[in-house]
Amino acid sequence: MERKQLEAKAEEYLTHLCRRIPNRRVGAEGNRMATEWFAEKMRAAGFAVEMPWFNCIDWQDEGAHLLALNGEVFEVFSSPYTLGCSVLAPLVVVRTVDQLAASHLTGMILMLSGEIAAEQVMPKNFPFYNPEHHQQIVRLLEEKAPLAIITATGRNPELAGGLYPFPMIEDGDFDIPSVYMKDVDGEKLAQLPRQQIALTIDSTRIQAKGCNVIARKPAGDSQRVVLCAHIDAKDNTPGALDNGTGVVTLALLAELLADYSGPLGVELLAFNGEDHYSAQGQKEYLKSRLTEFSQIALAINTDVAGYVQGNSAFSLYGVSDQISSLVREVMGQFASFQEGEQWYQSDHSVFIQNGCPAVAITSDQFMRLSTEVTHTPADDLDLVDYGLLVDVALALEQVVRRLNAVI
Ligand SMILES: [Zn+2]
Repeated sequence: MERKQLEAKAEEYLTHLCRRIPNRRVGAEGNRMATEWFAEKMRAAGFAVEMPWFNCIDWQDEGAHLLALNGEVFEVFSSPYTLGCSVLAPLVVVRTVDQLAASHLTGMILMLSGEIAAEQVMPKNFPFYNPEHHQQIVRLLEEKAPLAIITATGRNPELAGGLYPFPMIEDGDFDIPSVYMKDVDGEKLAQLPRQQIALTIDSTRIQAKGCNVIARKPAGDSQRVVLCAHIDAKDNTPGALDNGTGVVTLALLAELLADYSGPLGVELLAFNGEDHYSAQGQKEYLKSRLTEFSQIALAINTDVAGYVQGNSAFSLYGVSDQISSLVREVMGQFASFQEGEQWYQSDHSVFIQNGCPAVAITSDQFMRLSTEVTHTPADDLDLVDYGLLVDVALALEQVVRRLNAVI
C-alpha cells in the first residue's frame, strides 16, 4: 500500500472515530459503535475476533445547582458518576485529613478545599494504583457520611489532565453525592456567614455494557505479540490523541498484516476502559486471560501518539537485549521516532505488572499534552499528524514480522 493511501485512510478512520461516532465513553452508544467498527476492520484483514462483554456503570447528567440562602448562586459541576440528590443543610468546610477525622458531619453538606482537595482520589475499587492516603480519605468520608460533598479544586494537570476545576471524586462505586467547583468560588462560599445551602444534583447511574476487542491471527492460543490501544475516550471529548490515534494505528497495522501468516501469533487488542473510573475492560482482560500471559513475548501499547509537533517516542520495559536492539533498529529507520523516558500511566502497565516485556509508544510531548490537552474538548483532529501515524503503523509491522526471527 502506498504511503499516501495509508495517510488518507488514517485521516478517514480518525474522522470516523472522533466525528461520526458520538461519544466513546465506556457504556455509551458511541463506545459500542467504536468497538463494532474496530472488530469489523479486524475481520476484514483476516483476524479472528472475540468481543467479551462486561457490565459497567454509565451515567447521565443534567447538571447541578448550588444556592446559598442569601440568594447567591454558585457554579458547580456534578462529579462524574455521582448519584443525584436534593438537599438543604448547613455547610462544613474541611481542609485537611486531620480536620476531616475530627469532624461531625451527619446531616451536613461537606466542602473539601485546600490541602485535602489538592488531587483526585483514586476510585475506591481501582486495582492498579491506589495510595493509602486516598483510601484513607474515602474511608473517612464514608464513615462520616455527610449528605453531600462539594470539592473545591485548583489546577492539577498531572492527575486531572487540563481540567480546571477538576473533579476530586470520579467514582461510580462511591455513594455520597458530590459536585466540584473552582477553588476561588469555594473560598467565596466558605466566607459566607454560617448558614444553610441548597444543593441539587440531577444525575443518574445506568447499568450498561462494553467490550474489549481481541483480534488474533492465528485464532486461539499461541506464543504471540500483543499490540494494544484503548478505544474509550473521556466523556464529551473527541479523544483524538487520547486515544483515537492509537486505535487508528492498529487498524492500519491490521491491513498491513492482512497477508501475515506467523509463526509468531499476533493479537491486536482494543482495551476498553483506560479513561473510565472502573477500568472495566482492563479488569476483564486480566481476569479471563491471566493464564495466557506467559504466552506473550512482547506487548506494545500506543496512547497519545501522532501529535503535530515533535516526534513519536518509544520506551522499553523489561525487554531482552535482543528484542530491544530489534525495536531500536526498526524505530531508528524513521526520522519521526526517538527513544523517550519511561512512563506508566497507560495500558502497558497491565502487562509490566504481570511480568511481560513491554514497549510504549506516545508523543515526545506526552507530559505537556496530558497536562493541557487530553481529557478536554481541545483533544481534536487538528492536533494530529497523519504521517506520524503511518510511521507508527509501518514500524509496528516491521517489529511484528522481524520478531519471528528472534523468538
Ligand atoms: Zn489514554
